[in-house]
Amino acid sequence: MKHYDVIVIGGGHAGVEAADASARCGARTALVTHRFDRIGVMSCNPAIGGLGKGHLVREIDAMGGLMGRAADAAGIQFRLLNRRKGPAVQGPRAQCDRALYRTFIQREVAARDGLDVVEGEITDLLLDQGRVTGVVIGGDHILTCQAVVLTTGTFLDGVIHIGIERRSGGRIGDAAASRLASRIRDLGLSTGRLKTGTPPRIHRSSIDFSALEAQPGDDVPTLFSFLSTGVSAQQVPCHITRTNERTHSIIRENLGQSAMYGGYIEGVGPRYCPSIEDKVVRFEERSSHQIFLEPEGLDDPLIYPNGISTSLPVEVQEAYVRSIEGLTSAQIVQPGYAIEYDYVDPRSLSQTLEVKAVGGLFLAGQINGTTGYEEAGAQGLIAGINAARFDRQAPYVLDRADGYIGVMIDDLTQKGVAEPYRMFTSRAEFRLTLRADNADQRLTPKAHGAGLISEARWHAFEAKMLELDAGRDVLSARSLSPKVLREAGIRLTQDGVKRTALDLLGFSDFSLEDLAGPFPEVSTVPVPVLQQLRNQAIYANYLPRQEALIAQMRTEEAREIPKDLDFEAISGLSAELKQKLQQVAPRTLGQASRIDGMTPAALALVLISIKSSGAGRNPNKTERTGNG
Ligand code: FAD
Repeated sequence: MKHYDVIVIGGGHAGVEAADASARCGARTALVTHRFDRIGVMSCNPAIGGLGKGHLVREIDAMGGLMGRAADAAGIQFRLLNRRKGPAVQGPRAQCDRALYRTFIQREVAARDGLDVVEGEITDLLLDQGRVTGVVIGGDHILTCQAVVLTTGTFLDGVIHIGIERRSGGRIGDAAASRLASRIRDLGLSTGRLKTGTPPRIHRSSIDFSALEAQPGDDVPTLFSFLSTGVSAQQVPCHITRTNERTHSIIRENLGQSAMYGGYIEGVGPRYCPSIEDKVVRFEERSSHQIFLEPEGLDDPLIYPNGISTSLPVEVQEAYVRSIEGLTSAQIVQPGYAIEYDYVDPRSLSQTLEVKAVGGLFLAGQINGTTGYEEAGAQGLIAGINAARFDRQAPYVLDRADGYIGVMIDDLTQKGVAEPYRMFTSRAEFRLTLRADNADQRLTPKAHGAGLISEARWHAFEAKMLELDAGRDVLSARSLSPKVLREAGIRLTQDGVKRTALDLLGFSDFSLEDLAGPFPEVSTVPVPVLQQLRNQAIYANYLPRQEALIAQMRTEEAREIPKDLDFEAISGLSAELKQKLQQVAPRTLGQASRIDGMTPAALALVLISIKSSGAGRNPNKTERTGNG
């Protein structure tokens, strides 16, 4: 019987990051998945990044993960979203060639030292005294281990819906994992049903692109990985078309046949990524919705019509698609469908993503109620690291001020999900410091400390830090008065305050060329260094306030809630809050503060109760008085 330190179940986006991170931590790791050639498959649109999601990819990359490099290697169109807004909320996005993406991931997985891939279906988990001890493959083959990371995506009791037709499946072309689903329910974990959908795929040759607006990528692509130096694949445009009144009336007439609207699906779908049926009903006043026609690859005949995911019958899909400009002769190669699947209430997990009730069992990805490759990959990374450290090293946790990954895991484990969770910049309260451009500065040193960073990446990071320091020195070496600056064409309030080029970098009124007039040394600093320093300068005035808030949050995080604190006994708390506190069992006052519906007054009651229990000391405060 073969033994591993860590077994990762599932070769999707969470699974590959988990397995890769676990092996990088030095744990002997097995990735067990249905088929090697399906590792890294993108179940839906082959696009990576976007608002909030791009931040997650940068953070995965900053910690040595795979997704950023894979997207750069496979990207066929790069666009920076929200370009006109501040750098804190801009989101890099890439349309990828799905075959190139999969190939990159499979090559990295195959080459990773300490990582074996085992093909097969996990049918059972082995437990002993509340701890996981191994897995069963195909009903009879056993592998033993210290820790398991479960990343089964949409496969747990997955049901595919096309109109009133329904069949079992993990996604189109793959069988569902039904035996494992019932095993998970047997563990007593709280589970629910969620759903998501995908649009029909259209054959490229059947589309009349000449009638449509082309959308090229950015002239200067914004890459994901801090190690990438340029794009690898040929760059191609996407195209834009729109639904119309006729499209909407076909959809309205057939709503009764939609799996979603006919009442055939009980699971809750993603509000932010609605089906076309949803859009037509919810936004009744609109006569048209935009559709992006996105290639699935350079040699791939399929086009992904982004914006019309559906669960209507195939013939209705054909009718409404053909009512759209450019698509009047469209040939549907694969129908759109909805999928419904089991997820586990993420409030049953700790911040390491370990199931609180089962030692050594970690969950990551869509199984935790999220949607999206980026959310899955980010969780996989954290679960993989913690599985590798399980029982040997301190837990590896990111908090809300460390990164979007910390925000997501805190949201999931404290608030749970009512619908598939996706990342947005608005979820991060410290977003001025958690920018996509500085993910490496926030996370690479921490990951290096945990042994996750290759020598090559660490050298590149150190070299970049030296360049930034040198750039900062050059830009702050001289200061000029507003009068001198005005003479050089820089218009400023004549307040008599002398300013350096670094001070002026954050002013949106001047371009880098403008600054190079009075400060010719600006042109000696490399453009990427200038851009990074500019991003910091833009927020310089807000950062002290943000840092104070982060310090306050960390003080609250440090105030532990005793495990045996009886929330029921706290008088003055509403019954609803008592129930939520009991269910979430927050470890710290900070976690309690983020429970839905928690008020400052209620939090004060919890704090009084911690103090009167004689526990929950704040280590920061104790240390200071103790030393004095
Ligand atoms: P997956 O990528 O699903 O990978 C799961 C892996 O586990 C697979 O490799 C599978 O073979 C393996 N596996 C499962 N059970 C077992 C078992 N018992 N034994 C061994 N291996 C097993 N995301 C968006 O952001 N926007 C969208 O609009 C969107 N639409 C989607 C539409 C559809 C129809 C589907 C299927 C997904 C959609 N997604 C969308 C979600 C996106 O595909 C997932 O969020 C992402 O793939 C989740 O990654 P994961 O690693 O958790 O799981």
